[in-house]
Amino acid sequence: MIKEILADLVRIDSVSTRSNAEIVAYLERRCEALGLIARRFPYADEQGVEKINLIALTHDVQEVELALVGHTDTVPYDPNWSEATNLSERDGKLYGRGACDTKGFIAAALTAVENIKPGKPLALIFTADEEIGLIGAKKLAQAKPLRVRYSIVGEPTSLRPIRAGKGYSLAEVIVKGREAHSAYPALGASAILRAARLINRLEVIAAQLEQDQHSAFDPPYTTINIGLIHGGSAKNVLAGECRFTLEWRPIPTQSSEHLLDLFNAAIGEEMASDPDFQCIVDANRQDTGFETAPDSPLVQLLEKATGNESGTVAFGTEAAQMKLLGSEAVVIGPGDIREAHRTGEFVPVDELERCADIIKQTIKELC
Ligand SMILES: [Zn+2]
Repeated sequence: MIKEILADLVRIDSVSTRSNAEIVAYLERRCEALGLIARRFPYADEQGVEKINLIALTHDVQEVELALVGHTDTVPYDPNWSEATNLSERDGKLYGRGACDTKGFIAAALTAVENIKPGKPLALIFTADEEIGLIGAKKLAQAKPLRVRYSIVGEPTSLRPIRAGKGYSLAEVIVKGREAHSAYPALGASAILRAARLINRLEVIAAQLEQDQHSAFDPPYTTINIGLIHGGSAKNVLAGECRFTLEWRPIPTQSSEHLLDLFNAAIGEEMASDPDFQCIVDANRQDTGFETAPDSPLVQLLEKATGNESGTVAFGTEAAQMKLLGSEAVVIGPGDIREAHRTGEFVPVDELERCADIIKQTIKELC
């Protein structure tokens, strides 16, 4: 019973800060009861908390035809939301944390593999720490325990097959100045003014990036955001330091380094006109995007099964890591991404049930 599985999954609190050992133990039990071979890939997160990626296989092999991928963690929830870990049904909707992101897909995948005997190997892949930077999937992409031909990555897309996603890159920019009394600006150099000049240049770069278009996306180019800025110590002191975050989402046909090259050239120009100019760029995240061709058998199958045309998303998913495991990937799942990550998250029952059928059909066709 798909609803019962989802209720069990929602009952287990698996917010990313906690260990996912409990939900993994549950999934492992269920997979073994279905006759699958389950393998754990544990690691300790940055806080030393045990996290586990779980792979369950229909055949004892290292190369599979199809993988169904779902992340076990969820974003945090408001402790006053009584349904958060107690799945509740109203008006054809199931409410709870993770109901659509992404425990609904996991329940559908477990339901789809009941009573099937695929001829070709199939894997269920359950990852940790997706919500805090795709960390579990990145560990798997690095360890490469498995090669995968096709993968379906569960995320709430209202059952629309998503065949491409933008990448996600992040850098912290630290601009240095020299503190001085603001009555005598010539005695110092304001890090805030220097940062402002750099940010002006980033606006020009952003306009430049709009020329390199990928028509499958909305917006059809790499976007930039400066989401945080912090600098200075007092109103009458020339700022000694100014930090800002630089985030960009590259289209999959453009490398993450492209923007860094343009930015470094801009910094070079600032240094040429101000020999004292100092700036550190700490590019600490470079998640690649992914793109599966519209004529891929997996895309075609899922378009046919759902009756929905494939699309793209402007945010990062584990599909990029599945690509690193050799796979053509599509992201799909029940529920709407706009309902995820908020109190009152829900999945429509009909989409949940249809998702299980769609996965089952895809397994029959591909395996
Ligand atoms: Zn998700």
